[in-house]
Amino acid sequence: MSVTLAPLPYAEDALEPIISAETIRYHYGKHHQGYVNKLNALIEGSEFDEMTLPEIVAQSDGTIFNNAAQAWNHEFYWNCMTPDPIPPSSKMQALIERDFGSFDAFKETFLSKASTLFGSGWCWLELDTTEQMIITQRSNADTPIAHRHKALLCCDVWEHAYYIDYRNERARYLERWFETIDWRFVASNIIEYYHDLTEPCKENSELCDYIDKLQEENEVRT
Ligand code: MN
Repeated sequence: MSVTLAPLPYAEDALEPIISAETIRYHYGKHHQGYVNKLNALIEGSEFDEMTLPEIVAQSDGTIFNNAAQAWNHEFYWNCMTPDPIPPSSKMQALIERDFGSFDAFKETFLSKASTLFGSGWCWLELDTTEQMIITQRSNADTPIAHRHKALLCCDVWEHAYYIDYRNERARYLERWFETIDWRFVASNIIEYYHDLTEPCKENSELCDYIDKLQEENEVRT
């Protein structure tokens, strides 16, 4: 079994003018494909050969981890963006307000953390082990999976994600990137977290109160 490069969820020019087709051609076709190829060469004939990509990420370290996590992070990143963005649903909005005070405060914190991450890495919105949403700066290939957190949203801040379109201006890329967020995908990850629980709904889990409504709203919006 080998890891495959998932197809892009939209055409390579679909995010223009925010993300150009040229950026996607390099970022998806060269960088993402490169991580997948390297990973497959590394795991051939090893104990990782029969595992799914998230299992490899959770159980590996070193070079295998770096390539596996980058392969997974990129697939997730493509899904975080959409050519047809709509604002977060009312329940999604309510969850953001619960954890960040307001949508504007969330946006400000996310963009500021993404812009100040030193060097290469990813800015994440993730659900921690207490079911709170947190924003994290993760360097290089680091990913919520390695911390047993549920990934909800990410932005790639490696230079290869924006250099063709924005040169050295990461903050300008981030402002525009924010407009492409697929909030249905963010909500679907929270719903997936709930469905993956072995014991549905922890006692007194506040998050559980959000799930049904979140799912209902997402179905209407797809
Ligand atoms: Mn990248």
